[in-house]
Amino acid sequence: MSPRQKYRLRSRSDREVIREVEPGKHYVDGESGEPFAVVGKLIPLAPSPSSLPYAVENLRLCGCSLEQLVQRDLNDCPHCDRRLPALEG
Ligand SMILES: [Zn+2]
Repeated sequence: MSPRQKYRLRSRSDREVIREVEPGKHYVDGESGEPFAVVGKLIPLAPSPSSLPYAVENLRLCGCSLEQLVQRDLNDCPHCDRRLPALEG
């Protein structure tokens, strides 16, 4: 089990890190000194039995003829640029 939620942090110069964050704490890019802003939650959402973003349970078919597996949290298929249907449930 991986009960800690991971977040995607981005600095002004678009450097990104993935890490767990503590509420109220500020994170700074060690290289540029720029503050990181939280830009997203990483799937799988905690708690999850898997901490792998590309684990099978976090992928779905994009629905086009290419039948590519894409990450569930994407809005558009990275292979064919089609809009992905809203997730159910
Ligand atoms: Zn597609």
